Amino acid sequence: MDSRIETKCVQGGYTPANGEPRQIPIIQSTTFKYDTGEDMGKLFDLEASGYFYSRLQNPTCDRVAAKICALEGGSAAMLTSSGQAATFYAVFNIASCGDHVVASSAIYGGTYNLFAVTMKKMGVEFTFVDPDCSEEELENAFKPNTKAVFGETIANPALTVLDIEKFAKSAHAHGVPLIIDNTFATPINCRPFEFGADIVTHSTTKYMDGHGAAVGGCIVDSGKFDWMAHKDKFPGLCTPDESYHGITYADKFGNEGEFITKATAQLMRDFGSTPSPQSAFILNLGLESLHVRIKRHCENALAVAEFLSKNDKIEWVNYPGLEGNKYYDRAKKYMPDGTCGVVSFGVKGGREAAETFMKNLKICAIETHVADARTCCLHPASTTHRQMTDEQLAEAGVSPDLVRLSCGLENAQDLIDDISQALNKVL
Ligand SMILES: *Cc1c(COP(=O)(O)O)cnc(C)c1O
Repeated sequence: MDSRIETKCVQGGYTPANGEPRQIPIIQSTTFKYDTGEDMGKLFDLEASGYFYSRLQNPTCDRVAAKICALEGGSAAMLTSSGQAATFYAVFNIASCGDHVVASSAIYGGTYNLFAVTMKKMGVEFTFVDPDCSEEELENAFKPNTKAVFGETIANPALTVLDIEKFAKSAHAHGVPLIIDNTFATPINCRPFEFGADIVTHSTTKYMDGHGAAVGGCIVDSGKFDWMAHKDKFPGLCTPDESYHGITYADKFGNEGEFITKATAQLMRDFGSTPSPQSAFILNLGLESLHVRIKRHCENALAVAEFLSKNDKIEWVNYPGLEGNKYYDRAKKYMPDGTCGVVSFGVKGGREAAETFMKNLKICAIETHVADARTCCLHPASTTHRQMTDEQLAEAGVSPDLVRLSCGLENAQDLIDDISQALNKVL
């Protein structure tokens, strides 16, 4: 029986047998015991499935990955130790030295750095495109060695909403997959596979954990991309892997399994960004209430955005769920039930006013974090981006007055009252 998404949040990924633990057991073991060397050899050759060493796979982590896979409607998934590791593996699994990737320019700062600095050093070249570029501009970004297209459903912190169908169409016309970071929307509000995306990544550190308790990431494969149809572009999947006795992932695991199997067998084996079973267990506690929490995050954010949009101390408000926002219609199409809990806005009076406002907040705390139960805010110009001049901030899309507020699960009126009293301190 295929259950609805709320039921999948609570029960997906793990069905205990008679007498087994109701909750996903924490298998805090690095290693697993076998009766014969031959049994274990089969695992090493990917001839049989099973566990042998928790750097590659662990039963607790796999059950939690299976839940996220079910939520996204994918065919296979893996957890990673962070969202950064998930992004890196998802791209590096198909693009290596000499390859090229097209990415939206409105992405998480850490992802931009990973692509533009670190992966560039590894020989992977990125072309960044405006997410609202024309189809023609998008077309011009492709090269013969392009291996993937990357974007975020709702960009952190720009809060732009990606036209997933436009990006998927363009990627597929060039025989490459679309990878979507779905961290901010979560599968509760958007399932990118339904709009043509092929691979989804998550920083589970954000809403999925939702309590600021465990850093983690996840990669989900839709199982729909036909790698073999573009054999020449993806030799890593479609030709024998000498480090696995000549296995060809595409032949052995098919469209549904090859991407995640290769990422586990090669990248997790060699880079080892392994999540701990304990962290996976904590993540699962968050997932059990994801559907309930996301609704509240969005309600609170909308109430706050509406309040701010009517306040005369506020210069501008950016929230894709707010009527009149540039992305309102697109958000309604891709996320009819809500967008996310993050709102950004400018306080009149610029940098100084923003600082005064923030230091007077009592419920909303100043943090370099988003998307957890407690409301938090950040003034990039005086913290994460403080070394930049106002001109450099403008290029990064961060105005000196920008405040990013991540609405938690508190009472909406309490949040509004807190924001209101702090704004009253601004002259
Ligand atoms: C936080 C974040 C990441 C990075 O995730 P970590 O878990 O911090 O490594 C990637 N993408 C988005 C959209 C994020 O918000």
